Amino acid sequence: MADCIFCKIVEGKIPAAKIAESDHALAFADINPAAPVHALVIPKQHIATLNDVNDWAVMAPVFELAARVAREKGLVQSGWRAVINTGRDANQLVFHIHLHVLGGRQLSWPPG
Ligand code: 5GP
Ligand code: ZN
Repeated sequence: MADCIFCKIVEGKIPAAKIAESDHALAFADINPAAPVHALVIPKQHIATLNDVNDWAVMAPVFELAARVAREKGLVQSGWRAVINTGRDANQLVFHIHLHVLGGRQLSWPPG
């Protein structure tokens, strides 16, 4: 989709530190990391928010790649968090679904 920064990352039009990739999902480092490991995992297809998902099969590759990133970053024993912010109250800033993979430190709960 035009004017979507994450679509541009998928298309290679703007750079990102790629971590892992599958046929339908891409993982790259968050530009402003909130934890020692902070990856964003996105469907390659443009979908703005979880509210806009029609075919939930699109999310399976996202979770599969997130779990692979966690494994490859050594987070399986220590633990990690998967977060998908959706809409205004969750402070979603980029309107292309992205799953945050956070780990490498003790994470607090509840989130702010
Ligand atoms: P949201 O609040 O929408 O869940 O999170 C958006 C995330 O995308 C933020 O953590 C922010 O640091 C990250 N981000 C925004 N623009 C870029 C970018 O151009 N490249 C990368 N790698 N991350 C970005
Ligand atoms: Zn997009």
